[in-house]
Amino acid sequence: MKIIVTLNVATYYLMTDQPTTCPVCGTRTEIISDFYHTLLQLQINECLNGNCKHVFFEVEDQL
Ligand SMILES: [Zn+2]
Repeated sequence: MKIIVTLNVATYYLMTDQPTTCPVCGTRTEIISDFYHTLLQLQINECLNGNCKHVFFEVEDQL
């Protein structure tokens, strides 16, 4: 399967130990696609705030 990631519609954020919250409004988010165990190593999160629905990628800190 070929996965195309369009970089101009989402921003990467680093995973932390804290529950993931929306970087725009601070509401908790839901993982809508989990590619963490693939080569991409990212999760796609969507804000649970119905007025926001910000979608963003979350990646693990590689440092
Ligand atoms: Zn939000």
